Amino acid sequence: MRPEEAAGKSPLSQPRCEIEKTPLGGECQRPGEVRYKGMFLVCRPHAALLGLEDRAEAVLGSVFRMDEWLEENGSSGADEEYLGRIRHEREEALAALRHIRVEIRSARKEALQ
Ligand SMILES: [Zn+2]
Repeated sequence: MRPEEAAGKSPLSQPRCEIEKTPLGGECQRPGEVRYKGMFLVCRPHAALLGLEDRAEAVLGSVFRMDEWLEENGSSGADEEYLGRIRHEREEALAALRHIRVEIRSARKEALQ
């Protein structure tokens, strides 16, 4: 605890976490320390959580694109080797997504403290 906190004074120069303005919403009393997408100032735990949510969304987007591609090309006699590679990439993306979900769960817990 810093001396000014111990004295019961909140330092006016320190802005608060702006998580309520982000897509995640909610309330947070921690000081804002990290700039998210150049717009919102958020605390470190919320910055970590927002970063993970963005990553999950990006990976999910690539899985959707691969699904679409497989639906269009999967039965049209496309190059088997290439098809196999896309399927493998899709599996890897899903595995990454599962891993990110676990990270998100623990990041959420941390952000709630
Ligand atoms: Zn926060």
